[in-house]
Amino acid sequence: MQVGPPFIVSYSITTKCNLKCKHCYSDSVEAAPDELSTEEALRLMDDLSKWGIRLLVIDGGEPLCRQDLLDVVKYASSKGIRTTIGSNGTLIDGAMARRMLDAGVRAVAISVDAADAKTHDSFRGMSSAFEQTIRGMEACRATGLPFQAKHGHQEGDPVATARHAASGGGLGRQCRRVLRPGGDRKGQTRV
Ligand code: SF4
Repeated sequence: MQVGPPFIVSYSITTKCNLKCKHCYSDSVEAAPDELSTEEALRLMDDLSKWGIRLLVIDGGEPLCRQDLLDVVKYASSKGIRTTIGSNGTLIDGAMARRMLDAGVRAVAISVDAADAKTHDSFRGMSSAFEQTIRGMEACRATGLPFQAKHGHQEGDPVATARHAASGGGLGRQCRRVLRPGGDRKGQTRV
């Protein structure tokens, strides 16, 4: 039986991240030494295009830690590949949201773990993570960049909080998933 190409491809463009989540499945901190270079990432877009891939999810790590992220997205767009980004949202301000939109980013999935800053920040390993994530959602809304809140922690309703904080109709969808045990960062508590 001949198997056709996948409909969707997920590309972890970097393992670098600005947060230190307890539940990080990719053990992300610094960029892995064997990450694709810009040139290699562009060639990958060529290959995906040849294979007929039309939907690409770029995540990480935190994709926005890669300086060439939007070059890759722009190139993918020129090949007819629709790209969405999985992000923690903390590095998105108004200017970045505009640049993402202009590069061809179709939507952003922003992770939020709890309805309150204290709980979210304790998961994320940074004291102002919640505030910065909500600010990122607000920047997306103000710019017209579609986004969704995704969350796995089951206490409270973080999406409702995100919806309230980023009020104005920008929050189109929500996604809830259960965290799998393990994959935690070395030396930190399993969830
Ligand atoms: S935001 Fe958290 S879970 Fe996501 S890559 Fe960074 S450290 Fe890992």
